[in-house]
Amino acid sequence: MSEKHSVLVIGGGIAGIQASLDLSNQGFLVYLVERSPSIGGRMAQLDKTFPTMDCSICILAPKMIECFRHPNIKLLTYSEVKEVKGSVGNFRVKILKKPRFVDENRCTGCGICSDKCPIEVPNEFDMNLGMRKAIYVPFPQAVPRVVTIDRDNCLFFTKGVCKICQRFCQAGAVDFDQEPREAILSASAIIVAIGSKLFDVRKRSEYGYGRYKNVLLSLEFERLLSASGPTGGRLARLSNGRIPKRIAFIQCVGSRSSKDVPFCSSACCMYATKEAMLIKEHEPECEVYVFYNDLKVFGKGFQDFIARARDYWGVKYVGALPGKVVEDPETRDLIIWYEDVRENAMKRTKVDMVVLCPALVPREDNKEIAGILGLELDEYGFFKSKDLLFAPVDTNVPGIFICGCCQGPKDISESVAQASAAAARAAEVIALLA
Ligand SMILES: Cc1cc2nc3c(=O)[nH]c(=O)nc-3n(C[C@H](O)[C@H](O)[C@H](O)COP(=O)(O)OP(=O)(O)OC[C@H]3O[C@@H](n4cnc5c(N)ncnc54)[C@H](O)[C@@H]3O)c2cc1C
Ligand code: SF4
Ligand code: SF4
Repeated sequence: MSEKHSVLVIGGGIAGIQASLDLSNQGFLVYLVERSPSIGGRMAQLDKTFPTMDCSICILAPKMIECFRHPNIKLLTYSEVKEVKGSVGNFRVKILKKPRFVDENRCTGCGICSDKCPIEVPNEFDMNLGMRKAIYVPFPQAVPRVVTIDRDNCLFFTKGVCKICQRFCQAGAVDFDQEPREAILSASAIIVAIGSKLFDVRKRSEYGYGRYKNVLLSLEFERLLSASGPTGGRLARLSNGRIPKRIAFIQCVGSRSSKDVPFCSSACCMYATKEAMLIKEHEPECEVYVFYNDLKVFGKGFQDFIARARDYWGVKYVGALPGKVVEDPETRDLIIWYEDVRENAMKRTKVDMVVLCPALVPREDNKEIAGILGLELDEYGFFKSKDLLFAPVDTNVPGIFICGCCQGPKDISESVAQASAAAARAAEVIALLA
């Protein structure tokens, strides 16, 4: 492939993966840059996906592997974009490849080093509910399947001792002397797909997250439901490991509030309903409540999805936003206080577990990447579309496109549709240059 026809994709979640595959299948050379050790993004962490209830990693993993094997895709994981110069048709990009302290070409992913490593720390992929070693693959289906040494926790880097991993590695892949490396590449067009993050629910201290063990984030709950998660898919209270009998979801934590985030996070009503149905599949006797502000179910088939949860599975929807959650210090049960507007009365109910559904907000990276690329952000901090109606994936810079949750909260199918749109726009721009 000629570098004249290359595209840089920043972010290896489902949006970046889809854009890369669309472009590479048309014959363009794609550089896919992902900051973390593996591509996959948020979708890799989910148990099942609404509205189809597919196993998330089962439908994502083949796309991740296709990216890895595709002759037209150069995967640059554990890497960051540091500088971009030039303009459409001729962007010059500086990439920083962070040291894994493992030679990616030699590592076979056998995992002996991880088995032997004496250091265990919380695993970010499992939302810190499970453990990983200091030399680790973040999750079993990671791509590329090579290990990374976490230097902040490794005994060699912190105390100058150990090197057990190096001793056991048959492939001679562990390399403690690895340095950060810079690469310069050229690209005709750029696609930004760096996703979003969860609102910091500690700002809504009335719900007790961080103080009460049985108050969880929705993404933590996804890991708890997942067969590859920290409990092997067994639903358990974090305080005592017992199966919960009553679980409540609280919607719009941070979203649609003049105090925090004024917009709707788009996916939460549907994913809470998905998680509610999954609870019923795991534990049919468990009572499930969804405390909501407004049910935002605007997609095709979405209303039927809610109806299935309510009428078939018996999920109870409560049209109220709780004012506070209080823990019973003896049982560690949670008492939810809420206003019943229809009866104009304050009510309370006791549950074993509370799942908070936080707003999807811009990552801090947006500012840095926007600065590097000269892109405008909108009033919330998401990347700004050139024209929301007629050029939603274009930006203020010709030849740079955006897709997925970095442009605003959205679900997987919308992220994929935008990714294909961004790929098509990049291909169109390159064709016009030829
Ligand atoms: C709890 C929860 C459950 C959900 N359930 C569903 C569901 O069932 N169905 C559904 O349709 N949607 C669901 N969603 C929404 C879904 O997760 C998103 O629509 C989707 O992940 C968006 O993909 P993305 O590629 O835009 O972003 P992400 O998946 O966030 O990927 C962004 C990628 O960019 C990388 N990155 C970040 N910064 C940089 C940088 N500076 N340089 C390079 N790389 C960078 C990240 O590491 C990441 O790999 C759910 C969301 C949550 C929070
Ligand atoms: S570093 Fe060596 S021991 Fe560890 S996974 Fe790679 S090949 Fe196996
Ligand atoms: S040197 Fe570090 S990564 Fe290797 S086994 Fe020891 S603690 Fe683990």
